[in-house]
Amino acid sequence: MKRDYYEVLGINKNAGVDEIKSAYRKLALKYHPDKNPGDKSSEEKFKEINEAYEMISDAGKRVQYDRFGHAGVGTASPPPGGGGQGYGDAADFSDIGDIFGDMFGDVFKGGRGGGRGQRREKSSRGRDLQFDLELSLADAFTGAEVPLQIPRQEPCSACGGSGAKTGTSSKTCTQCKGAGQVRYSQGFFAFNQACPRCNGEGQIIESPCPSCRGAGTTKTTHKVTVRVPAGVDQGTSLRITGAGDAGPKGGTPGDLYVVIHLKKDARFTREGDDLYAESPVSFTVAAFGGDISLDTLDGSVTLKVPPGTQPGTVFRVKDHGFPKLGRRIKGDLFVKVTVAVPKTLTDNQKTALRNFAQSMGESTPAGSDTIFKKVFK
Ligand SMILES: [Zn+2]
Ligand SMILES: [Zn+2]
Repeated sequence: MKRDYYEVLGINKNAGVDEIKSAYRKLALKYHPDKNPGDKSSEEKFKEINEAYEMISDAGKRVQYDRFGHAGVGTASPPPGGGGQGYGDAADFSDIGDIFGDMFGDVFKGGRGGGRGQRREKSSRGRDLQFDLELSLADAFTGAEVPLQIPRQEPCSACGGSGAKTGTSSKTCTQCKGAGQVRYSQGFFAFNQACPRCNGEGQIIESPCPSCRGAGTTKTTHKVTVRVPAGVDQGTSLRITGAGDAGPKGGTPGDLYVVIHLKKDARFTREGDDLYAESPVSFTVAAFGGDISLDTLDGSVTLKVPPGTQPGTVFRVKDHGFPKLGRRIKGDLFVKVTVAVPKTLTDNQKTALRNFAQSMGESTPAGSDTIFKKVFK
């Protein structure tokens, strides 16, 4: 008895695409043969999960399955040209690569099964796209949700992405019988080659859809919101799985890579996870010491300036730098203190400063004041 696909994935019948993916991802990781070497029951379970996912994640097959159950989707017969070896159809593995992304890329690399899965990946996966996103330092600091408009290929609405004119459908290629490959032999050697009649696609469209000329995709502008995590840096690349070009003739879509470019900030310079800033203090604060309030990217902090602080002194404010990407810790903020000199002085202030100069044994600077007056009057 076959188990219900929804039950296999532990989801209910109304589960959305994200829910399906996440349920599948968890289970596939848990039961992946690489993680359970030699364990037959895990392997069986892994096959079952993959089969369920292949059906439920495909909108068309899912509808069939919901209406007719296992009888509706005909999974019992092996796929044309099928891998058959190892852990089921090789196409399962290319799908895994897609949803697991870079994080688990290494685990699933190495094309077990090869053949069919890889060929299908090559011939019908949509292109990956790149979008360069300019971001302020403040947004990179806090993280942001940025709405984007991406010009990309989407499944043609006239033919539903099949590329075949409404009312017609593609026909199984007569030369390769749908396998996409033909076998040649030469002496002792036999090898497979992409079928020349259907270009390895296994299907031939006899009446192409007039809207997309048989491609199955049309160019549109797609709105997508990218969630930029806190701590991204110049050149950080974020991958949005499936947001690239649609695959031709109903193939899987490519991915969208959003590459971060940071705008210059007027106050802060960033080096790795540390921030650098300058802060002017008055001559008296530098001399007497005192607390100054410093703006940071997430509020303000109080910096204690010790008495006798010299211009150019750098203070480290711990944990007020940039957040480390994907972690809860931050770098440091380095503040270089400059001493601000007043541009104008009242008579009382002048007297006070002259007295101060005298007490330091300096010649009284009264003279330069009168010289300036002479020059500029
Ligand atoms: Zn079309
Ligand atoms: Zn063919």
